[in-house]
Amino acid sequence: MSLLADTLFTNARVRTLTGPDRAGTAEAVAVLGDRVVALEEVPARRVVDLGGAVVAPGFSDAHNHMAWYGLTLAEVDLRVGSMDELLDRVAERARETPEGEWVVGAGYDDNKVGGHPHRDALDRAADGRPVWLRHTSGHMCTVSSAVLARLGLAERGREVPGGVVVVDADGRPTGVLQETAQELLNPLVLPYPVDVLVDAIERAARVYLRQGITRCVEAGIGGGWIGKSPVEVAAYQRARDAGRLPVRVELMVAAEVLHPLAGHADDGLPVGLDLGLRTGFGDDRLRIGPMKIFSDGSLIGHTAAMCHDFADAPGERGYLQGEADDLRRTIVDAHRSGWRVAAHAIGDAAIDLVLDAYEEAQRRWPRPDPRHRIEHFGVARDDQVTRAAALGVVPVPQARFVRELGDGFLRALGPKRAGQAYRLRSLLDAGLVLPGSSDRPVVDGAPLLGMQDMVERRTAAGAAFGPAEALTGLEALASYTVGSAQASHLEDRLGTLAPGMLADLVVLSDDPAAVAPDRIGAIEVLRTVVGGETAWDAEEGG
Ligand SMILES: [Zn+2]
Repeated sequence: MSLLADTLFTNARVRTLTGPDRAGTAEAVAVLGDRVVALEEVPARRVVDLGGAVVAPGFSDAHNHMAWYGLTLAEVDLRVGSMDELLDRVAERARETPEGEWVVGAGYDDNKVGGHPHRDALDRAADGRPVWLRHTSGHMCTVSSAVLARLGLAERGREVPGGVVVVDADGRPTGVLQETAQELLNPLVLPYPVDVLVDAIERAARVYLRQGITRCVEAGIGGGWIGKSPVEVAAYQRARDAGRLPVRVELMVAAEVLHPLAGHADDGLPVGLDLGLRTGFGDDRLRIGPMKIFSDGSLIGHTAAMCHDFADAPGERGYLQGEADDLRRTIVDAHRSGWRVAAHAIGDAAIDLVLDAYEEAQRRWPRPDPRHRIEHFGVARDDQVTRAAALGVVPVPQARFVRELGDGFLRALGPKRAGQAYRLRSLLDAGLVLPGSSDRPVVDGAPLLGMQDMVERRTAAGAAFGPAEALTGLEALASYTVGSAQASHLEDRLGTLAPGMLADLVVLSDDPAAVAPDRIGAIEVLRTVVGGETAWDAEEGG
């Protein structure tokens, strides 16, 4: 019986990402159902001549915030250069917003607009409506008087542990809420309705397809400060049922959502979700991923837990986001209960704590290849890289941070320690799995931009940033494909192109592994195929 494929993509320069050096190539890809069936010319019902374009496995973002990003797409874009322009945009949105409803914006930078918008100015611009504008860092926001009134902060501020309600010389709040003071808003804005989240998820997914993303890992749902609703899985499931989830998604569950389970004492399942659901439940379209836990804060905000002082803030070393013993116990219990763990750790002191916990977990409750992760792996010493490799831990750094946030990192770390920040090359050299990821919407999440930054490692101001950690174009492409698949333990079906693999692929105008580094980000995505179906085609738009 001879093979008849559904679709043959031909006249292509195919990067299969197979082989020990990931250098495999082919000239055609044949698809049957949702799988690749051949990498050569075979009879097919439909033949698509790609005219010499490049084909690669679909891009996979191993750490992004899909619903959050989708929500920001519907908000007022505040990435402007002046306060007048910012207030104009708020006023414009207010005019089309029904009375009493919120005007929400994101992305302003006080350095670029000459300070934070003041509540009085927001009251005038939005005609008294509730206004909530988030700073580009995510670490602060500013709100109008209508919001302050609902928080009981109209006339006086109050003490908030780990945060600040900013007040003027007379003690009157200005509207600015820093760090944990932002959580005062939670009862007013959370939970988001499932329908709003479905819209946001689809909006994000449509952007992802245009950028070649066929799969992503959503880095925290259900609770904590990162979750949007306690029933967030329902939003993804509803989106999928309605044909509005065109990319594959793995959902990290916020550690706060796991709770003691009442199974049999012999089960060894101290914590988890109801019914014992855990990492891996679901299918290739939508599945539950790791438990997400925060061990420290951010480098720019000086809240990352460091072993040495910040270069630009003597005496400050940041701090852990909880008691060390509690963090360790949460990680060990989740491991014992069968969860993969994804621990946010940016400072080297936080990384030490997480590596200790992973080692203890595996010593006390051995599991084959648990593949626990360290999100960001921000500032890592050589001995930590070696230890992560020995433990089989997957670091998940974001190369785009170097471009968009790197100048601030250089100030916080000083030039010497910058070589330990957001490492790449030394991770591969140590034999570690290296996925590609963005942390979108914290920075631009287009994978080709991320790949360019992996190769260039330059800050926005043009400074070299740990140049010894740079990758080749092929290594960068491998990160965003097979590396991300390995980080999710899915390399048996995703991340490379070979017979039997899921037919997720991207058609590109040029080859990220071959063009000059400064041109990688400008490569066009011509077509994105998910499970054998063309989900985005540049010629048709959509
Ligand atoms: Zn994140």
